[in-house]
Amino acid sequence: MNALVNLVIGKFGYNFTTNNKSLTFDPLSLPPESEYIKVTLPGINQEIVIGKNLHDWTVETIQSRKYSSHFLILDATFSKLNSKFVNWFKNELGIKHVVSLPPEELSKDLENLNSILDQCLRANLDKNSCIIAIGGGITGDVAGFISSECVNGIDFIFIPTTLASQADTIINKATISYKLLKNVLTGFNSPSLTVCDTQFLQTLPAKDMSFGLSEVIKHALIGSPEFVKYLKSTIQPQLQNWENYPWNDIVFKSLSIKAKLVAKDPHDLNGIHKGVSYGHTLGHVLEGISQSKLRHGETVALGMRLSGQVSNLMGILSKADLETQNEIISNAGLPTQIPFPVNPAFALNMLSRDHISEAGEITLVLLKSLGKFFVYKNIDPKIITKVLKENVT
Ligand SMILES: [Zn+2]
Repeated sequence: MNALVNLVIGKFGYNFTTNNKSLTFDPLSLPPESEYIKVTLPGINQEIVIGKNLHDWTVETIQSRKYSSHFLILDATFSKLNSKFVNWFKNELGIKHVVSLPPEELSKDLENLNSILDQCLRANLDKNSCIIAIGGGITGDVAGFISSECVNGIDFIFIPTTLASQADTIINKATISYKLLKNVLTGFNSPSLTVCDTQFLQTLPAKDMSFGLSEVIKHALIGSPEFVKYLKSTIQPQLQNWENYPWNDIVFKSLSIKAKLVAKDPHDLNGIHKGVSYGHTLGHVLEGISQSKLRHGETVALGMRLSGQVSNLMGILSKADLETQNEIISNAGLPTQIPFPVNPAFALNMLSRDHISEAGEITLVLLKSLGKFFVYKNIDPKIITKVLKENVT
């Protein structure tokens, strides 16, 4: 059965315009056993299809849109490991313009995007061209930014290939960095079509699945007690047998929560969108201190543990709920303690400068219960210091 979620919201303005030519699929034309999410935002319609072995369907769908030309932005590591698929894809669509990006933070620094914009100009892209991105989150963010800048907005299709980039895919927000200040530039832009082919996940190492599950768990914790229960019974200790988990369903449930939150607050104006920052505010601090030795998924997992404990110490989240959260995080193979020393004063200073905080006061997304978050302002720094000290190995 195809599951349908249709999200429609009211009027909002946009920083970027796109020549978005969203199609409304007849559900019968969707691939069998696939899931479908439609996010309708003013000026941007995004259709997300989740399924297995979607190669032929993807190519046929892109061909049916009759673009004047395609510009492919490719994750270099994915491309190396999947050269047969990449060559087939390029041939089927007659793609001549390809940019290959190493999947590292430096690739999404504004200073490195000039050469891609330059190549877009040389490719003579027009309003009816399309940028296609295949790869992980960095590739998607770069393509989202480039597509919003190119020819004053050009259509964009994303084929995410990692669990993190599928289950936490771009919905109305693509971020890039500037002079290594991570994710400081935000473009409100979405692909018109996102194809999450979960067959790609089978080729990934278990570690990458852990990193992606961190975002999946986050979505469950902020949006659905039922999904928390589902993950508790599905994710086995040490991620055993992960190849056989129902990935279509997991990606669909994760994205449904994100889509609902973003659709209610596309420009992050009333706090609802901020829910997706659960674990991220403290996680970014740890990411900074570790000098990126820990991966994003790992620091988010630690950030969720710390934020959960803060919620509990403030008398908001029950001990039982905190333990359930931490059990799921551990089973997913994510770290349970901070593996390096943390200077609390330094961490507090970084926290007060985070984009979520105002006037130097510390703001965090906290949990009320499993599936319910709220944004808490002016948190007592003593609680954060205590939690940081208790969680360092
Ligand atoms: Zn994240």
